[in-house]
Amino acid sequence: MKLIPALIAATLAGLGNTALAQDKVLNLYSARHYQTDEALYANFTKSSGIKINRIEGKEDELLERIKNEGSNSPADIFLTVDAARLAKAHELGLFAPLKSTTLEKRIPAHLRTDDWASFSTRARVIVYNKSKVQAADVQTYADLADPKLKGKFCSRSGSHPYNLSLMASVISHEGEAKAEQWARGLVANFARSPKGGDTDQIKAVAAGECAVAISNSYYVARLMRSTKPEDIKIVEQIGVVWPNQATTGTHINVSGGGILKNAPNKDAAIKFLEYLASDDAQRYFADGNNEWPVVASVKVDNPALSKLGKFSADKLPVNNLAMYQAKAQIIFDRAGFK
Ligand code: FE
Repeated sequence: MKLIPALIAATLAGLGNTALAQDKVLNLYSARHYQTDEALYANFTKSSGIKINRIEGKEDELLERIKNEGSNSPADIFLTVDAARLAKAHELGLFAPLKSTTLEKRIPAHLRTDDWASFSTRARVIVYNKSKVQAADVQTYADLADPKLKGKFCSRSGSHPYNLSLMASVISHEGEAKAEQWARGLVANFARSPKGGDTDQIKAVAAGECAVAISNSYYVARLMRSTKPEDIKIVEQIGVVWPNQATTGTHINVSGGGILKNAPNKDAAIKFLEYLASDDAQRYFADGNNEWPVVASVKVDNPALSKLGKFSADKLPVNNLAMYQAKAQIIFDRAGFK
């Protein structure tokens, strides 16, 4: 007889959870589209009962959409890659202040701002053709502007956030005058006009069209993990350098996110960001795109990243990358880095 009330209680509790699960939602505007992110979201729903409605799109389109939706926006979270784009969301006044002791404890201070946080890092590395340049000649970002690399350097556009953030770090460390000198040196060394993405630069290096290029680390790791014969050939031709190991450390960028000012589900939003900083989520989040977790104690098991090895990363606050975005574009324009 004692079993019956217990059974009823259990059933009611079950119903309660179901009703709650239907009520609790999170509207996630995401510019990440990686296969492994599916598991990341499913695990959050399983542990929190909060259903995720995902709106995916290109970074700039999502920002535009949130801006246009204004105070009626259903968006709770904006997730994207590159400090430049997160800075843009900040500048547009789209984010709410971010307060969480969990995030403060787990994520290093230089990878957070007042309204957004980073959840993974990627490095901007130097890729060179082993039969055309010596690794010793391309140890720093400054080396890329050395006249002895005339006609040998390839890059994507100077307007791309990855290059703008790198330039922002140079401005931050060296000042504007030196940064402009550097940009002019890079332009003088172009093997061709900037075009394509980072992978196109790696391919051009392997093909010998250029001797040296810069690329985000995950594009290199992706090629290293590929089983396609053409990719294996590319990887055989190239060497990878962690720039600035003796000085500032290699420039890193981030993928990250923040809670939107008009978020209708702020509690769910903070829970989600805290979840992204958990051990399991950190592994999924970073490894899905061959990146590194921001939580120092989390280890990833990624053959390409292991092979690339350890390096010392620039500790410049991500806020500085944000701060100098506009300046970076002005300097690249002035130097003719299109
Ligand atoms: Fe990318």
